[in-house]
Amino acid sequence: MTNISITQTPSYDQPLVNKAVQEHMERFNIRSKLSPDIKVLIKPNLLMKRTPGEFTTTHPSIVEAVIIWLKESGVTSITVADSPGGPYTVSALKGIYQTSGMADVCQRHNVTLNMDTSSRNLENKKGKLVKQFPIITPVCDADFIIDICKLKTHAMTGLSGAVKNLFGTIPGLTKPGYHARFPEKAPFCSMLVDLCETIRPDFILVDAIQAMEGNGPSGGTLRETGLILASDNPYELDYCLCKIIGVNPRSILTVKESISRGLCCGDFNQLNLIGEIPRAEPFRVPRESSLDFTTFLPPLIRRPVRAFVFHYLSAKPVIIREKCIGCGKCSESCPRNTIQIEAKKAKINYRNCIRCYCCHEMCPVKAIDIRKGLIR
Ligand code: SF4
Ligand code: SF4
Repeated sequence: MTNISITQTPSYDQPLVNKAVQEHMERFNIRSKLSPDIKVLIKPNLLMKRTPGEFTTTHPSIVEAVIIWLKESGVTSITVADSPGGPYTVSALKGIYQTSGMADVCQRHNVTLNMDTSSRNLENKKGKLVKQFPIITPVCDADFIIDICKLKTHAMTGLSGAVKNLFGTIPGLTKPGYHARFPEKAPFCSMLVDLCETIRPDFILVDAIQAMEGNGPSGGTLRETGLILASDNPYELDYCLCKIIGVNPRSILTVKESISRGLCCGDFNQLNLIGEIPRAEPFRVPRESSLDFTTFLPPLIRRPVRAFVFHYLSAKPVIIREKCIGCGKCSESCPRNTIQIEAKKAKINYRNCIRCYCCHEMCPVKAIDIRKGLIR
């Protein structure tokens, strides 16, 4: 039976967060898995250049609490690393580390903040769709990986949690290539499970003190949840996050895939909750439509109906021209190269758009909305 540890942590006040992180570490007896010469890698969610107050990235106080606890436990080699959206360059990393508060934390505790932009291939011969991924070097070199994700809704995958956070172990602009290769949600989510099986994080913490609902992972609104969660099973932790955000776990395709592969029990009664999930209203979901009723149609007409549904009825990214500053970040992250910048404004050619919403995710000024399809 998998343990899911939950603490009520109402704010990012450092002593409170330290206490919560210590409790989680002790509940899983993490100290017994560490040694002074072990290389520990902390993988926060640093999606883009946002301040901690914008509730998009993992809050630095949680990373700081983990570093404090690791140091007190005698660990000397600690690295914080992520490959955010956009180019994986030293200058881009510096800006994001600075803005997200990671630079201050790492400097204060004399911990390595990764600036190595190289990557290596990691194999997982049992992968269902992908048997080898390019992975950023500090993740490849680590002996013990702590995945610290941020609880958010997600326009494409429904949930940004333990499994989705690991997409940031793939270097920079290699990521859109996976969207291009797996344009439909189900295979994309299956690929994410292959990736999670390749990385196999040893411990996961969820920053759910200030979560995001609505048009996540970057354009949503604040949802004060006041929780930190932890587990050593990323799939069952995500299953539990579904309960918190109020969605059917089987509607989140990474969760559904992990259940079908036997990686998640798929039964809330089989999880050992240490702590309580408070009752709350369901999270607002992204304005994305999941309309794939075509699986019920005869195979011959499935494809044209699916194309019609996709182009005319499903939610699409729309540029809000008044907000667009012409920075080109959407164009840079589009796996189908279907966004042009004309007269300092972005323009989408919908014929090639695969509705991956990377552009929406990467726009720094929230100038890309997701508009409902015709029948929603
Ligand atoms: S839509 Fe956003 S990301 Fe794209 S060019 Fe405009 S401001 Fe930049
Ligand atoms: S326009 Fe946006 S949603 Fe469409 S393929 Fe490009 S990044 Fe994905």
